[in-house]
Amino acid sequence: MDRRTLAELRDLQRRRHYLAALGIEEWLPRRQVARPAAAPAPAEVAQAWEQLTDEVTRCTRCDLYRTRTRPVLGVGDRRAQWLVVGEAPGAEEDRQGEPFVGRAGQLLDAMLRAIGLARGENVYIANILKSRPPGNRDPAPAEVAACLPYLERQIALIRPRLILAVGRIAMQNLLGTSGSLAGMRGQVHEFGGLKTPLIVTYHPAYLLRKPEDKRKAWEDLKFARDVFARLG
Ligand code: URA
Repeated sequence: MDRRTLAELRDLQRRRHYLAALGIEEWLPRRQVARPAAAPAPAEVAQAWEQLTDEVTRCTRCDLYRTRTRPVLGVGDRRAQWLVVGEAPGAEEDRQGEPFVGRAGQLLDAMLRAIGLARGENVYIANILKSRPPGNRDPAPAEVAACLPYLERQIALIRPRLILAVGRIAMQNLLGTSGSLAGMRGQVHEFGGLKTPLIVTYHPAYLLRKPEDKRKAWEDLKFARDVFARLG
């Protein structure tokens, strides 16, 4: 019978998650039980980021590499407690190599400021796709399947305390649901093996088209801020 405590099992799960993010296979001699270990050394994490950046820069997993100017990995504090996930780079992001730098990005920055956050300070911003779909069309399922593992590795390395999914595409792909965004607002969902709390809100590009929904987005942001404040 496994007599490890819940805390030990959580540590073990966290360590496995880290190792997977680092691309290291866990080796266990027969009958030996893995001991909970400390988080990997900063040098290992830095190396994992370097590897990830290099892979994304050279990525040809889907056809979007043919039309992109540059891939957009993400931006911000790699030890952030908040992670914002959008859909995919647009034209300006494709040019600059940074997520959310166009008009939608300006609104996102304002939304973050409204809850006391600033780009790069305790926030990391990334997208479901690293490369721009031509004409800003919705990501194709094969593109998401090819690209999502990169985001999963980022999440395993950052280990945010809360994920804010902005827009339907981010919400559906992170939660593996085809539900509507409206139906998923106002609840704390969970992402991945670490069960990271995840909250959804409207995409800033949608809010630019439909400013009357900004009030609802503000409700979501206050909800996220309150949930974050209550995290142990
Ligand atoms: N929209 C997104 O979802 N992501 C970006 O980076 C820019 C616009």
